[in-house]
Amino acid sequence: MAGEYTKSEVALKGIGVSPGIVVFKALLLTPQTDKAVQRSITPEEVPLEIVRFEEALISTHDQIKHIQKQVSEVLGDEHASIFDAHILVVDDRTFIEDVIRSIKKELINVEPVLQTVANRYADMLAQVQDSYLSERAADIRDVTKRIMANLAGESLDQMKQIKEPCVVVAHDLSPSDTASIDKTNVKAFITDLGSSTSHTAIMAKALEVPAVVGLHNITAVASHGDTVLIDGAKGLVFVNPSEERIEEYRIKAAGQEQIISELAQLRDKPPETKDGYLVPITANIELLAELDGVDARGAKGIGLFRTEFLFLGSKSLPGEEEQLEAYVEAAKSQDPSPVVIRTLDLGADKLPAGFENPDELNPFLGDRAIRLCLSHPELFKTQLRAILRASVHENIRIMYPMVSCVQEVMDANTLLRQCMMELSKSGIAFNQDIQIGTMIEVPSAALIADIIAPHVSFFSLGTNDLIQYTMAVDRGNENVAHLYKPTHMAIIRLIDYVVKVSQKNGLWTCVCGQMAASPQLVPLLIGLGVDELSVSPSQAPVIKDVIRKLYYSDAVELAQKALNSSSSEHVQQLCYDLIEKIAPEVFEISG
Ligand code: PEP
Ligand code: MG
Repeated sequence: MAGEYTKSEVALKGIGVSPGIVVFKALLLTPQTDKAVQRSITPEEVPLEIVRFEEALISTHDQIKHIQKQVSEVLGDEHASIFDAHILVVDDRTFIEDVIRSIKKELINVEPVLQTVANRYADMLAQVQDSYLSERAADIRDVTKRIMANLAGESLDQMKQIKEPCVVVAHDLSPSDTASIDKTNVKAFITDLGSSTSHTAIMAKALEVPAVVGLHNITAVASHGDTVLIDGAKGLVFVNPSEERIEEYRIKAAGQEQIISELAQLRDKPPETKDGYLVPITANIELLAELDGVDARGAKGIGLFRTEFLFLGSKSLPGEEEQLEAYVEAAKSQDPSPVVIRTLDLGADKLPAGFENPDELNPFLGDRAIRLCLSHPELFKTQLRAILRASVHENIRIMYPMVSCVQEVMDANTLLRQCMMELSKSGIAFNQDIQIGTMIEVPSAALIADIIAPHVSFFSLGTNDLIQYTMAVDRGNENVAHLYKPTHMAIIRLIDYVVKVSQKNGLWTCVCGQMAASPQLVPLLIGLGVDELSVSPSQAPVIKDVIRKLYYSDAVELAQKALNSSSSEHVQQLCYDLIEKIAPEVFEISG
């Protein structure tokens, strides 16, 4: 029609992390990076910009006070006093006025101005030959980061306030940003960064929000208000799709829904192969809200409760009572099936306020998970006590994350025993025989599984990290996602070794990494001798479908061929061929 302009369709392929086909308008979020994006403003916008700054300062002040209180309760006043210096920075009128003057003068948004002024102050202080003053430079950088985060956080508030369904388009979303998504309006999200086992992807699956990540430049391609079509299973995104494309996907979506509703019928059927071999399916959960979905999707029990999300969601440290309540709720909901509570797997990539260590250059190799818990025994013991108290519900088990040497298991067990003694003295009940397990997700732990075995009752293979650490491939980095290979011979050999050790020692082995939730890889894991698969509840039906269509003898044969292979691609092909033969519908609903 004359005068009407139609934008042409742009197709992008990313990494599909949460299935579902949707078409909605795009809502673009301001990138939440540390680098400030510069935007010109008009003189009329200056007061608004100053209000944004002042509000971010107030939030920052309140947060620091809150963190200080929390840290003082958990770690003592000595640690909490470092936050006095942070308060001084956030209340410093000279600094604040300097930022406001520059906004007025340069007519640009607050973020780049704040960064420039803060860098100037920090650089000046860093050069002073006085250790007290030069340390203040680090305080200024810390506080600036926090103010920037509060300024950026507005975009998330803006997301929560939207009144119409939309697709969120963002440079990146942190796991806690994803956890706070309001599903009524956020129908899907797509991001420049991210990969299939990033924690943001895990949250998307947990919330069952279709998502495609690792698109590299979607924030540059899509504009606010563009129509966006997403196929979350295949990782496809169409910006301004044509009428024909929308129709094509309407038919595909109907087909997917049909398959999903057929799989839902498996809910009460046992996860048993055609030749009668049982492979229990348990659930990975991050939020208590997911508990209802476990039984509803046909899983039994929790194979992995990622308790760090209790911390991330609340922006503060939940105390013993609050944790106890959460664990009891999980235990009651699954009774008599087991609930494996993993102790905090916090690291610099997902630390709660007050525990960040901005100096860590390589947080995935840093002070995280069991290391952080052992270096903060009060924090750890609070959690251990809560788990022990909850263990009067005897289905509760405990599991340590990111173990890399046997001493960590022994030290954690020592603290656990200390907590048991303290509880006994106070006459508080708990399960003396609580089962203890450890994640096997660091190659060194896999290779000394025989040395760790006498200290635990079960292993849980965290393949997300096991692959990351074995192959030296950042699990969250889309630029190296092609090197992240679950079927790499090194991974297959490590799994094989751990399972053999486990069987020899009479232990139980679960896989709780994403490999267990990949239908194409399930026969391989079963053939390697894994006892249990723990997957996000939404994946349970398709995994059960595969198990029920599989002969255990075929799985064993597949695993033997894989162990004798010399190429990751060959193993992957063997896995895909088997699924093509027994359960081809799987390819319609997963990537
Ligand atoms: C894993 O590493 O495979 C795992 C299950 O733990 P997370 O994804 O929480 O690191
Ligand atoms: Mg892990």
